[in-house]
Amino acid sequence: NEVETGWNMDHSYARLPQLFYSSIDLTPAPAPQLVILNEKLASSLSLSSKALQSAEGIAILAGNQVPEGGSPIAQAYAGHQYGHFTMLGDGRAVLLGEHITDQGERVDIQLKGSGPTPYSRRGDGRAALGPMLREYIISEAMHGLGIPTTRSLAVVETGEEILREKALPGAVLTRVAASHLRVGTFEYAAQIGNIDNIRILADYTIERHFSYIKDSELRYLHFLQEVIRRQAKLIAKWQLVGFVHGVMNTDNMAISGETIDYGPCAFMDSYDPATVFSSIDRDGRYAYGNQPYIGEWNLARFAESLLPLLHDDQKEAIEQAQEALAQYATVYQEAWLSGMRAKLGLSNEEEGDELLIKDLLQIMQTHRADYTNTFVALTFDKKMTMSTTPEFIKWHAVWQERLGRGQESTLTSHQLMRDSNPAVIPRNHQVEAALEAAVNEGDLSIMERLLDMIAHPFAHTPEQKAYASLPMHSGDSYRTFCGT
Ligand code: AMP
Ligand code: MG
Ligand code: MG
Repeated sequence: NEVETGWNMDHSYARLPQLFYSSIDLTPAPAPQLVILNEKLASSLSLSSKALQSAEGIAILAGNQVPEGGSPIAQAYAGHQYGHFTMLGDGRAVLLGEHITDQGERVDIQLKGSGPTPYSRRGDGRAALGPMLREYIISEAMHGLGIPTTRSLAVVETGEEILREKALPGAVLTRVAASHLRVGTFEYAAQIGNIDNIRILADYTIERHFSYIKDSELRYLHFLQEVIRRQAKLIAKWQLVGFVHGVMNTDNMAISGETIDYGPCAFMDSYDPATVFSSIDRDGRYAYGNQPYIGEWNLARFAESLLPLLHDDQKEAIEQAQEALAQYATVYQEAWLSGMRAKLGLSNEEEGDELLIKDLLQIMQTHRADYTNTFVALTFDKKMTMSTTPEFIKWHAVWQERLGRGQESTLTSHQLMRDSNPAVIPRNHQVEAALEAAVNEGDLSIMERLLDMIAHPFAHTPEQKAYASLPMHSGDSYRTFCGT
């Protein structure tokens, strides 16, 4: 029963003005079946896996029953989608509440794919099993890589088919997040056009995620600066592992600094800044190499929504916002450069490091070298296809010389590289194989094994070496889809 599960729900978001959400009557699933449960996550949240797997536990994860203290709502928000402003809101997700763990941590418990809401408009409010398992895999991989992210607690099949190009099994993902406050939530408040709403939302967010600045004299400016810092650092981490989010609309950017909304995302194989996976991103707006710039663009939209709080005089407010935004590039560059230095085993700083890194990336691009495997090969001094090319030989000599000028021992450098260069990422062909077996055969074993591998990507175990293999056909034409 619920007492055993350990749900401990609060509803601080629902204490915001009514315009920020709608209360929801959940749509029951006809025949819910648990597909996968994240037992480690459950236990870290002070939840009982055993109780979650019971009929009642599954009923809750399917949206058929509200947990004790739960109170389902859909959140209102707006957003710039591919550059265009739109009013949105949770169209296929409900927030059951905020679960407070035994350690006092507050996390959103959200069901994704649980049926229509007042914000659904054209969509059916449902999700297909494949994409929900995909989000489960990628979000857990990001967590394993040490990148702030929403987590996945469970996926439940609903027993209902949903209609896409063909009929697909429906599913509900239980998503766990620091919060679902988005850049788009602030755009929504600003669009409603009453300064009190923006202030209430900002104060709430500061209290929830940035309580260390709440007594700051210029608290809203400080808030803006902190959100900018977190976002810059987050996107630097994406770049360092070759993660392509794919749909960096402002409604998909969390204020907490977590990666959120895994739709058409994927990891880059061969290094190319123009890498795009999303089938609908035809202009490459959200290409790998554009992500840092889009992050800044999104933060500018965030800053705009905060302008009324920054200063009574709009010109003054804009000046403050611009100064804060100017910090983004600096924070990003610092985070990226120090991450790249670590990937090359460098623990001190030299002027020429950026050039050294860019030269390597250029050579990788020319030879279409696999991004992840190149850094693993450098770590373990292994041969690559490009190893015998003059440009690589020359680069390698410069790198070795640079390493020689560092203070650290060879052993320390090697350890730094091991800890900074993942042996495994969830490669597209492996994710597809896992999903195919799970969705078509009901065989979760491939997915479970992949999850084991990506949980500790820096272990560099012999078994992980098999996961470094590239697909038979190049991943260049790999396409991902939104909205399934
Ligand atoms: P996304 O591209 O996942 O960030 O979603 C953009 C907007 O479309 C959000 O407001 C979603 O809630 C909504 N949406 C996505 N899929 C569906 C669906 N199947 N039914 C209703 N709304 C949806
Ligand atoms: Mg979204
Ligand atoms: Mg989505």
